[in-house]
Amino acid sequence: MASQQNGLSNKLDVVVVGGGLVGSLEALYLAKRGHKVRLFEYREDIRKTPQVRGRSINLALSIRGRRALKDVGLEQHMIENHGIPMRARMIHRPDGTTYPIPYDARTNQVTSPCGRA
Ligand SMILES: Cc1cc2nc3c(=O)[nH]c(=O)nc-3n(C[C@H](O)[C@H](O)[C@H](O)COP(=O)(O)OP(=O)(O)OC[C@H]3O[C@@H](n4cnc5c(N)ncnc54)[C@H](O)[C@@H]3O)c2cc1C
Repeated sequence: MASQQNGLSNKLDVVVVGGGLVGSLEALYLAKRGHKVRLFEYREDIRKTPQVRGRSINLALSIRGRRALKDVGLEQHMIENHGIPMRARMIHRPDGTTYPIPYDARTNQVTSPCGRA
């Protein structure tokens, strides 16, 4: 039940427009605080579209993103079910050869990309 202050409920009816990274996270934060949230996204649900190849790329997740996911209870799920450890970026030379630059050569820490779909 909504708590009351000066006779008014402090639980809000919120509309979030845009279900990208910011909108979906904000919607989760607000819902976890007990607000009624409706999220509007004009693109179709990428998880349900038959052809997503070329329309989405993996998303590198840094410590800030992981903290946000942890706040809404999704960090473990995303890392365990969608994460792939990313140790280095690959540099492609004009002659076609490649070499990696580690994200953390000293302690070998990783960034965790997640599929967006
Ligand atoms: C090529 C590329 C690679 C990137 N790689 C990374 C990465 O690896 N890691 C990382 O952290 N960030 C990455 N970014 C940045 C990241 O994608 C953006 O910072 C992030 O998506 C911004 O989130 P947003 O919610 O503000 O916008 P968006 O993710 O663009 O979401 C906005 C949403 O609002 C919807 N929308 C817009 N107008 C309306 C409307 N009128 N009604 C309903 N819905 C609407 C759009 O359809 C969209 O889904 C990358 C960006 C690009 C372009």
